[in-house]
Amino acid sequence: MTRESLHLFDTTLRDGQQTPGIDFSVEDKIAIAKMLDAFGIDYVEGGYPGANPTDTAFFAEKRTTSARFVAFGMTKRVGVSASNDPGLAALLQAKSDAICFVAKSWDYHVRLALGCTEDENLDAIRASVEAARAAGKEALVDCEHFFDGFKANSAYALACAKTAFDAGARWVVLCDTNGGTQPSEIRAIVEAVIASGIPGKNLGIHAHDDTGQAVANSLAAVEAGVRQVQGTLNGIGERCGNANLITIIPTLALKPAFAERFETGVTAEALAGISRLSRAFDELLNRAPEAQSPYVGASAFATKAGIHASALAKEPKTYEHVEPQLVGNRRRVMVSDQGGKANFLAELRRRGIEVPRDDNRLDALISVVKEREAEGYAYEGADASFELLARKMLHSVPEFFNVTSFRCMVERRFDANGALKTVSEAIVKVIVDGEERMSVAEGHGPVNALDIALRKDLGRYQHEIADLELVDYKVRILNGGTEAITRVLIESRDGSGARWWTVGVSDNIIDASFQALMDSIVFKLMKNRDMAGLVAAE
Ligand SMILES: [Zn+2]
Repeated sequence: MTRESLHLFDTTLRDGQQTPGIDFSVEDKIAIAKMLDAFGIDYVEGGYPGANPTDTAFFAEKRTTSARFVAFGMTKRVGVSASNDPGLAALLQAKSDAICFVAKSWDYHVRLALGCTEDENLDAIRASVEAARAAGKEALVDCEHFFDGFKANSAYALACAKTAFDAGARWVVLCDTNGGTQPSEIRAIVEAVIASGIPGKNLGIHAHDDTGQAVANSLAAVEAGVRQVQGTLNGIGERCGNANLITIIPTLALKPAFAERFETGVTAEALAGISRLSRAFDELLNRAPEAQSPYVGASAFATKAGIHASALAKEPKTYEHVEPQLVGNRRRVMVSDQGGKANFLAELRRRGIEVPRDDNRLDALISVVKEREAEGYAYEGADASFELLARKMLHSVPEFFNVTSFRCMVERRFDANGALKTVSEAIVKVIVDGEERMSVAEGHGPVNALDIALRKDLGRYQHEIADLELVDYKVRILNGGTEAITRVLIESRDGSGARWWTVGVSDNIIDASFQALMDSIVFKLMKNRDMAGLVAAE
């Protein structure tokens, strides 16, 4: 049976740019457009040419090879002709294949925001679509606030959509701009639009996540007949974000309700790269990946309960809704105090550590992990520290260097100009190859000073940790009060892109940080020797 085409439209570079704290450079935009293009997205919307220097520079060239490259902008201004509108001229001149016009479709907004008559707005839609087509471009019209507009005045909302379609727009996109519409309403309204004479093959959905249902709304619209879905990578976007394409795409490809009826430009092979795509995008944004993201998160196929884990090892289908490798993810059975022997063996094997089930050292390792977890260590969040501990107890870990002492100092004082300053300094003494070295460093806070001092001079290992970088640092106070236990988790990465977490626990925050820093460096040295890091490198 032939399947119908569903078109994927990415607006990461346009609507996604509205996310607080996100501001793409031209280089970022080029890199992201390339990733989307290679992944199999049909339309890549790049921004507003003419509105700012970055977007104008981005549209100086076509940035995709297979995907259609889309410029976004307003419909022509009321009161000037299409040929006399500078905004429209910038859109027509951009090196894009298509133009997506944003048009008001809620009568209230037409009066309030545009301050023109309803008919003038329809004329602007018509003239803009015609101008784009005359310039040889595909035209799309985003009907802003369509669902709210439909509820307020369905005749006018439909008139906007119909005007766009009749003028020759390839796609009329129904937008839930405020993100508050419910899936059942989306379904009913899409059906009404189709019944009014615009075929589903010319309709798209653009959903926002303000009630946590942008993905559900997009899928409801597909079920009701639309054939284009808009969204962003990892669901970025203003307020609560846009529909998350990283969630929608696997659902379309793997869930029979959609997979049997539709096909998209994303091949099975590309789909197996979607976890990597999602992480690469977070990397570019310099933010930590969301562990609980559907399909692609580190926890998406993780389990820590002992009873589930042993069943999972026997028959993965019992606890997994799809196979993790189809989306480039993997099954994780986490080490935790609930885990039984089967958990440990599976985890160790995955790290290339073989140990017989009846080996006494295995029982010793399990009891140490349980003891330490009772003290506050959290190995399920610190893969690398777990691996080091296991290797130490089951085999051996070379002693690369030995820290004989460290000292940290924090001074808060007024400088010569009377300004309050806080200065942190650390001194670390370390023995490498029998020779003692002493490093002193200042830093932003004592942990940073300690980190710099520790990594300042490791003798012959120094060049090996040059690409080691700390990317995240989490502190958790475990049982209240100033005498509480502190748990520090540190995330590190190196030039190969591998990331790993280490943990330290102490009643002293500096000491806990020091343990986690030490583990990270030793793990990196082990990884360089192919003695560790199977998991981190994944
Ligand atoms: Zn939007």
